[in-house]
Amino acid sequence: MEDSKIAPTDPAAAWVKLHVLAHGIEFDRSVSEFVSTERSVALRKNFYNNPVSAALDAPIPQELRVLGLIVGLNSYGRSPWRLTWERDALTLSLENQETGTRYAADIIPDLELFAEDAEAQHTANLYGGAALAFFSPRSCYFFADDSQCHFCSLAGTARETPEYQGWISDEQVGRIVRLALETDPGRIEQIMIVGGNMRDLDRGFSHHVSLARAAAEAVGLVGRSDAVSVHVATMPPRDLTLIGDLSEIENLHVMFNLEVWNPDNFVRFCPGKAKDYGRSRMLSALERLSSTLGEFRAHSLLIAGLEEPEWTCEGARALAQIGVSPIVNVYHSDRDSRLGIGPRPAFADLAQIASALHDLYQEHEVQPYWRHCGRNSIDAEAQAGLFGSPMPTNLTV
Ligand code: SF4
Repeated sequence: MEDSKIAPTDPAAAWVKLHVLAHGIEFDRSVSEFVSTERSVALRKNFYNNPVSAALDAPIPQELRVLGLIVGLNSYGRSPWRLTWERDALTLSLENQETGTRYAADIIPDLELFAEDAEAQHTANLYGGAALAFFSPRSCYFFADDSQCHFCSLAGTARETPEYQGWISDEQVGRIVRLALETDPGRIEQIMIVGGNMRDLDRGFSHHVSLARAAAEAVGLVGRSDAVSVHVATMPPRDLTLIGDLSEIENLHVMFNLEVWNPDNFVRFCPGKAKDYGRSRMLSALERLSSTLGEFRAHSLLIAGLEEPEWTCEGARALAQIGVSPIVNVYHSDRDSRLGIGPRPAFADLAQIASALHDLYQEHEVQPYWRHCGRNSIDAEAQAGLFGSPMPTNLTV
């Protein structure tokens, strides 16, 4: 199993992260001043989603590090959590306005590469401070069919931010991965290949395999294959024999996402996936993926907060039992999605899922997809045993 470097000193850290993800963060106006004076901060690049309720007059950081953990900077309007730039102390602080509890919030520095290389700046993203992410194609045919996943905001986000590339080549991935590992040594722990999807699922899958191969070769060229893993998020191919093409890529993790576990919810929230592929076929593809990559290197994402917590817990356990590592991401409402910025999941429901995930990590060798950089996920925290700590009594709703 890969190592876990998550070792926060405050036993409440993972519960605080979960509470912040449940409610989002309010910005004090001073944060804009901070961003305009602090040149090195990794600013939010909305390649495929935008969990910020209103158009802002200044860019915002992409994530924060709070109590040693990466936390997504999502903002849905009013929240108990308020982010402020403390000018005198030169620090960002995250305060729970209901309890008065305050934490220092560290910024994530951007890659040197992005300041030096315009193509890299418009092609790649630094995710969670440690993943170099490529999104291609920057479209999904489910939007053309009006059968997109209801939480997904890819089409609207791409319209709002046309400056990022819509299609990425193997050559670009290879060049940028190699440069990032050389220009910013020690920063990148994983390469992410993510996409929208093509109507020809076999062709779309092969595009992602090809990008992953280019990434792995570049990692190998700089001698980092043991330390830097390659991660692919894609739809499974129609022709399941194509999954075999993944076996030649070193240190690889792949996800085919179910998003929700309840079969009716799959039809409701993911109408395109349900109609064009189907839930049972997705499960067959995941089993084949697991036997190709090795147990628990196949993953499937379940969005905590989209359905009743019992379904997420049942789904995570069922996936583990077929050798697939669940990925649990806390639902972030995206303003350009069909669901829009709507009601937030209850913290108590998320806490129930976190506790179940803690138990699952005690029983199975399941692995997080994001090792130390998941901004909305809670898997690495569960692997590190952080949800075994008592929940702070002031984080109840
Ligand atoms: S499959 Fe669903 S979540 Fe993925 S890009 Fe298409 S619409 Fe969005």
